Amino acid sequence: MTTLTFDSLNPATGTVVGSHPKQGPEAVHAAVGRAEEAAAWWAGLGAAERRRRLLDYKAVITQNLRQLATLVHEETGKPVGDATLEIVLAITHIDWAARNAAKVLGRRRVSPGMVGLNLAATLEYLPLGVVGVIGPWNYPVFTPMGSIAYALAAGNAVVFKPSELTPGVGVRLAELFAESVPEHPVLQTVTGLGETGAALAGDPRVKKIAFTGSTATAKRVMAACAQNLTPMVAECGGKDAFIVDADADLKAAADACLWGALSNAGQTCVGVERVYVVDAVYAPFMRELAERAKTVKAGQDYGPITMPGQLDIIRRHIDEATKSGKVVTGGPESVRAPFVDPVIVEDVPEDSPAVREETFGPTITVRRTRDAREALELANASAYGLAGTIFSGNTRRAMELARLMRSGMTAINSVISFAGVPALPFGGVGDSGFGRIHGADGLREFARPKAISRQRFAMPGMNLTSFSRGADELERLIRLVTFLHGRRKR
Ligand code: NDP
Repeated sequence: MTTLTFDSLNPATGTVVGSHPKQGPEAVHAAVGRAEEAAAWWAGLGAAERRRRLLDYKAVITQNLRQLATLVHEETGKPVGDATLEIVLAITHIDWAARNAAKVLGRRRVSPGMVGLNLAATLEYLPLGVVGVIGPWNYPVFTPMGSIAYALAAGNAVVFKPSELTPGVGVRLAELFAESVPEHPVLQTVTGLGETGAALAGDPRVKKIAFTGSTATAKRVMAACAQNLTPMVAECGGKDAFIVDADADLKAAADACLWGALSNAGQTCVGVERVYVVDAVYAPFMRELAERAKTVKAGQDYGPITMPGQLDIIRRHIDEATKSGKVVTGGPESVRAPFVDPVIVEDVPEDSPAVREETFGPTITVRRTRDAREALELANASAYGLAGTIFSGNTRRAMELARLMRSGMTAINSVISFAGVPALPFGGVGDSGFGRIHGADGLREFARPKAISRQRFAMPGMNLTSFSRGADELERLIRLVTFLHGRRKR
């Protein structure tokens, strides 16, 4: 007999948090059908009313912050404080998306250029219709909200498939939205396992899929999207580097490095996984890092590993790293399921899985480099390219290194700070995916540009798009274009 429901468990205790339906293709397609109608209604409401409703949704989430944080804590195992922080960040994104949608997407005139002098040109960004959001479990509010809020603000309806590990949070996000928008199911959550997400990605009425998760699953989702030419945003994993330059504030760098690597048990797509420290400050930085790491403990400062299967990957990376590298903190014994204490290993070969593959655990590898340039070269030698960090006392050099870092985001003298700036786009390159959530780019990601050129008057003697065009008109065009574009710049 097929099971019609599945349970979400508290990863720290194994107790059941909630039971949810496994929604199959039929249920998903029905949700998409309802979303199509809701999308038309939501788009018709207009930007000002959508802004009002989204700001109200923000207030509803804020009023339910404690309860929602408890649910996030129960389903992911992360401390309530970290869950609160994640929700606060999501709230700032809903606020920004709501307040900026009209400005970013609204109709505007653009210059028609000299050849189009008789035209009025307008550009606006229209909703796509139904957007499917497939979310992860590590930040079950903040991460999907980076797509949901921006897609809604752009005038779309959303069908959200949360991770099977955090379905309760997903269901709650849609319930709270219905308090602000009771008329139509503009935001729906469908629960289930991978097949539920696959049904969503394969529905031709879904006009865009926003996916967050592993690179391997992103490829499967992309293959499903390809059947209908459905475009996709792929926010995949990372192997983010942390560079410590010679004149960095070492105390601040060690503090930020540890938090970036260990918070949320390292289950952060933009978490610190590789650390490159220039030779001149290597020893004092390592002393600082090791000293501070002693005070951090799993189960006290951060929670368990949320996804049980991840423990095997973390264990394999630690085993490989400690075979060839030198242990600074912890070791294979740090894995005491479902918790993993901090592990820091130095001098791990660059081809080790601990340096190449996403670990998604509270572990870091550290390597000494000649200078910041070498650190950057090693940082960039990764298939991933999501984010990264630079600690330096020299703003100019830090900015230069940041621009040369092959990643979508870089934080200087802070970790992950870009995620809290709603105006900044979030996304990666290479195996970390493509497309952007957050900011103006994130709004445009969920809209289609609509270009309109309107002829205001007929250009005397220049009717170029007509079979009645004569040689003299062409001659005038050649003279005009030569005048405008014919001078070479040497
Ligand atoms: P997945 O990539 O497998 O899952 C992400 C989402 O996709 C989930 O909602 C999942 O549903 C759904 N999904 C799974 N299979 C399909 C499919 N065929 N079609 C459509 N949707 C599908 O990530 P995991 O949660 O299994 O984590 C695996 C690894 O991914 C981690 O170890 C980590 O390295 C990385 N990861 C990266 C994240 C990031 O923020 N960039 C976030 C989470 C994970 P369901 O949960 O029901 O399977």
